[in-house]
This record gives sequence, C-alpha cells and structure tokens, in this order.
Amino acid sequence: MTDIDAPVVIIGAGPVGLATALVLGQYGVRSVVFEQYDGINPHPRAHVVNTRSMELFRTWGIADAVRADAVDPAWAGTILWKQTLAGEPLGRIDLVEGPEDQLLRRIHASAEQLTSCAQDRVQRHLLDAVLAQGMATVHYSTTVVEVTDLGDSVDVTVEGVGGRQILRTCYAVAADGATGGLRDTLGIAMDGSPVLGHQLNIYFHADLSPWMREDPALLVWLINSASPGLLIGMDGARRWTFQRTIDPAVESPQDYPPERCAQIIREAVGTTELDVDVRSVGPWTMTARTAETYRSGRVFLVGDAAHQFPPTGGLGMNSGLADADNLGWKLAAVLRDGASDALLDTYERERRPVAVGNARHSMLNAIKMAEVGIGPETTRIAGRLESPDPAVAAAERRRIAEAIPPQRPHFDALNQEIGYIYGAARHSDDAPISATDYAPIAVTGARLPHAWIERDGERVSTHDLLVPGFTLITGPGGADRADAFAETGEGMAKRSVVIGRDVTSPDGYCPKVLRIGEDGAVLVRPDGHIAWHSAEGSSPASALAALLNTAERSV
Ligand SMILES: Cc1cc2nc3c(=O)[nH]c(=O)nc-3n(C[C@H](O)[C@H](O)[C@H](O)COP(=O)(O)OP(=O)(O)OC[C@H]3O[C@@H](n4cnc5c(N)ncnc54)[C@H](O)[C@@H]3O)c2cc1C
Repeated sequence: MTDIDAPVVIIGAGPVGLATALVLGQYGVRSVVFEQYDGINPHPRAHVVNTRSMELFRTWGIADAVRADAVDPAWAGTILWKQTLAGEPLGRIDLVEGPEDQLLRRIHASAEQLTSCAQDRVQRHLLDAVLAQGMATVHYSTTVVEVTDLGDSVDVTVEGVGGRQILRTCYAVAADGATGGLRDTLGIAMDGSPVLGHQLNIYFHADLSPWMREDPALLVWLINSASPGLLIGMDGARRWTFQRTIDPAVESPQDYPPERCAQIIREAVGTTELDVDVRSVGPWTMTARTAETYRSGRVFLVGDAAHQFPPTGGLGMNSGLADADNLGWKLAAVLRDGASDALLDTYERERRPVAVGNARHSMLNAIKMAEVGIGPETTRIAGRLESPDPAVAAAERRRIAEAIPPQRPHFDALNQEIGYIYGAARHSDDAPISATDYAPIAVTGARLPHAWIERDGERVSTHDLLVPGFTLITGPGGADRADAFAETGEGMAKRSVVIGRDVTSPDGYCPKVLRIGEDGAVLVRPDGHIAWHSAEGSSPASALAALLNTAERSV
C-alpha cells in the first residue's frame, strides 16, 4: 500500500471525472485520475453543451475554446424531420425563430448560450485545462479494480503498465460512467427504468454539404423504412453520428461492419453516391435511472455513474458537469477549510433531485417523440409515408407536421438547464415544472441570476464576479457589511462586491433581479448558487457557519 500525496482519487477521465479534477484544483486540492483507456475516447457521444455547462466552462476558462470548436450557431438552432436527408422537410423547429419573448428570455438569462460541441473535443479542452492547472495527474491505461473504504481513508487498487498497486487516499470519486461497475461493488442500486431500448451510434466522416448547405440543421430525424434514425452534425462539416435502433434479440453490434454502416448512411441520406468513412460504432442502452444514493462513506458517485437518461434532452454530460461543480467545492471545504463532513451529504440532497427531474424530462421527450414517428411506431409510420396511395402519404405528412411544434420543450428547455433550485421541491418527482419557462429568481438554492454590469469600464456578468470561494454582493448602502464579510474568518476565499462602488449597473437591472435594492445583499456559494439572501434575516456570516459546520441545516 502506498500513501499518495493527493487527497482525492477520481476513477474515470470522461468529461465528469476531468471536470471534478479541474474544480478541485481551483481550490488547491490535488487529485489523481485513473482512466482505463489509453487516451480520450475519439467516439463522440454528447454534443449539446447547455447553458449551465457553458457558464461553468466560462468560470473554468474553457468556454472560448469550446465555442471555437462548436457547430456554427446558425446550424445549432434548427431541428429537422425528413424522410431522407435528400428529401423535403416534414417539419422543423427553429429555436432562433421561435416566439420572440422565449428567445429574448434565453439571451437575457445568461452571458453564455447553449452550444453544440462534440464530446471528444469537450474532453480535450477539459484535459488541457487540467494539465495546465497542474493540480491533478491523469493516468491513462490504468484500471481501478477495487475501492475499499477504511472509514478514515480509502484504498484504491489499480492495474496499469506498472502492475497492480494499492493507493491510500482520503476520498474517491467514481466517475466511471454508466457501465463502469464501481457503483455495483459499493452495493448501490439504481431507481428507475432499466432498459428502454438499444441503440447503435455510428460515427462517420462524409461530405454532406450538398444536402446541408441550403438548409443546415443540428439534428435531422429521418423517418423511412430502409434506414430510420437520427443524424447529428458533430462539427458542422465532416464529422457526423447516426443513431439507429437495434434489436438485441435478433442482432448484435458485430452485425454492423463498416461496409454495412456506410450503406445505412447512404440510405439515410437518400443517395447511392456518397463516400462514407465509418470511424467507429458504439452500442448503448437507453435507460432512465438514478442511483439510490450518491455517497457510500468516503466514495461519491458523479455523472453517468450516478444517473443515466435517454439522450432526448441532452442532459447526461451536462448534469454530470454540474455534479462535479457541486461536489468539488464541498470536498475542498472539508479537506482544506475545516468544514463539517455533513456538508458532503448535501451533495446528494442537492444533485439527486435534479437528476430525477432530468430523467423524467428526458423520458417525456422520448415518449412524445413517438407521436412524430420516432420510436416503436417508426416502421408503421414510415410505411404510411411511403404508401403508393398519395392520399395516405399526404395525410401522414400532415399529421407529422402538426405533431412537431409540441416537441419544442424537448429542445428549448432553459428552465430545465438553469432553473433548478437546491432545496426546493420544484424538480422533485411530484412537482412537474415547465421545462422551458425560466424566470430568474434570487432565493437561497437558486443559481445566481445573470445580469450585465460594468467593472473598470468593462461589461461583465454577475457570474464573472464569483471567486473560487464565497462572494457577497450588496447594494450601494452595504459597504460596511461587505467589508466585514470579506474580513471574516479563515478558510475558503471570501470576496465582497458593492454595487455602485466596485461595479455599476447602468440599466439598474442587477440590484433589481438580485432583489437587493439599496441595503440588501446576497451571498453566493463557490458553485454560483445562492447561500443566503438578506430577505431571510440573520447574517451572511451565520449563514456560512451553518452551511459549513452544522449537520442540521439543509442548504
Ligand atoms: C448517443 C448519445 C448521445 C448523447 N448526447 C448527449 C448530449 O448531447 N448532451 C449531454 O449532456 N449528454 C449526452 N449524452 C450522455 C453523455 O455522453 C454522458 O452523460 C457522459 O459521457 C457522461 O460522462 P461521465 O464522465 O460521467 O462518463 P463517461 O463519459 O462514460 O466516462 C467514464 C470513464 O470512466 C472510465 N472507466 C470506467 N471504469 C473504469 C475503471 N474501473 N477504471 C478506470 N477507468 C474507468 C471509462 O473508460 C470512461 O472513459 C449522450 C449519450 C449518448 C450515448
């Protein structure tokens, strides 16, 4: 057994494991990441990087790099339904041409906008940031085979090029994905629907510009009997994925060699003339499940290890990134700043209800898509579209066209992305909410509303005020309170910002949306969620003490 000089071991270098290392590093906490693969998995899965994730990336310094690698925003706003790519649209959703108030609400809600960037590129930027930060080491080709919680430490057994080793650390974070298996060894069961379907994700390179140039789209749902599925642009140029349903009772991924996949792509496009370079084929199982608990002693689950959703909603990786942001500062507060262990229990209390809500939203999206012909009825609906009787085909086209606009909340789900409030019932099982209608709200547990303000003559977001620590934002009359807070106690960094002194709000929106007027104040946690509002009474210092040191108070 070897003691390592890092208090956290992270199992898995997917996006969530890397994000966990990056967040810990921001607070000066060292970590070691083990990854069984020999590098970044080049097979892209996720591509939707939602508003909250882009905000996190802004904080972590990689938003520009991710945006530079993302699909052109002109593509990213369009979702099409067609029979084949070469065919005429059956219908469309244009996010940028939706109801104006909806669009404006999105623009006003954040300094960042949802984007589409292939998961392997996202992981590249996360890894680069981790390496540049220098607080974590990432070991590829190393598999974690066992994690043993000793009560006051954790032993992690790894197998890699150097053979088998047992490493002793303080905490372990299982970021080993949906199929990693550590969760099972900890005896943690999953709640929810185990298997909803089996899919094949075909990753290929091809020039689809003849069909995409005039009417580009991020997602093209294809309803035909020869090759139905979903075509997704990974870079808006040559990189694509195509998702196809498979039936494991009669076939397996081995039945899909590259030549067959290339033919499937040609049929989906609706051409015989297309060079298709199939790069990889990845099977995956659609589930909607959440781990019963996110913590087992000194071991925590994050990302797909903790929750798995149908991809209808693009929330898997996005939820995992926010898990990492939530758990990271809490581990740092306990390891470095003497916060109580009870703070770590709030990770599950806060993040699990969000996952349950995201699983439900993704399920509803999947069920609703069946109305358009994506799901168990695809073959029957495609048959009607291809009917030799023009009246039957036309009726089916009309029916699909009418079923498309109600799909909008699937793709335009701002409230789902940023509207969750820790400690509130809003995202729990019993309280369905509108996925779309986000309204900024400055209450304890909510994400700090974004407002544009000016600092040193430069326009910045309220989110840009946040340090890796706690930030008190006060109205113009709050200077005394602000100064007192910035000087309180030891531990995590504390900063105060007085509107009117340190920053200005030229349009007056900032103090209004934060509900702080002249004398009010809002205390923001390291993860950008509100820890305390002056409307609650008490003081920021006592709120902080309660948050970091007592078991009783749920934040
Ligand atoms: C087709 C498809 C489309 C999707 N689209 C979206 C989308 O648009 N937006 C979105 O947010 N999400 C999307 N998702 C979900 C997203 O891909 C996952 O949520 C995301 O990959 C989870 O990240 P993770 O780091 O938790 O797990 P993973 O990415 O699975 O990473 C886990 C890592 O742990 C490693 N590992 C496992 N066991 C061990 C071990 N014992 N030792 C060492 N290493 C180990 C694995 O090799 C892997 O690299 C999609 C998923 C699919 C299948």
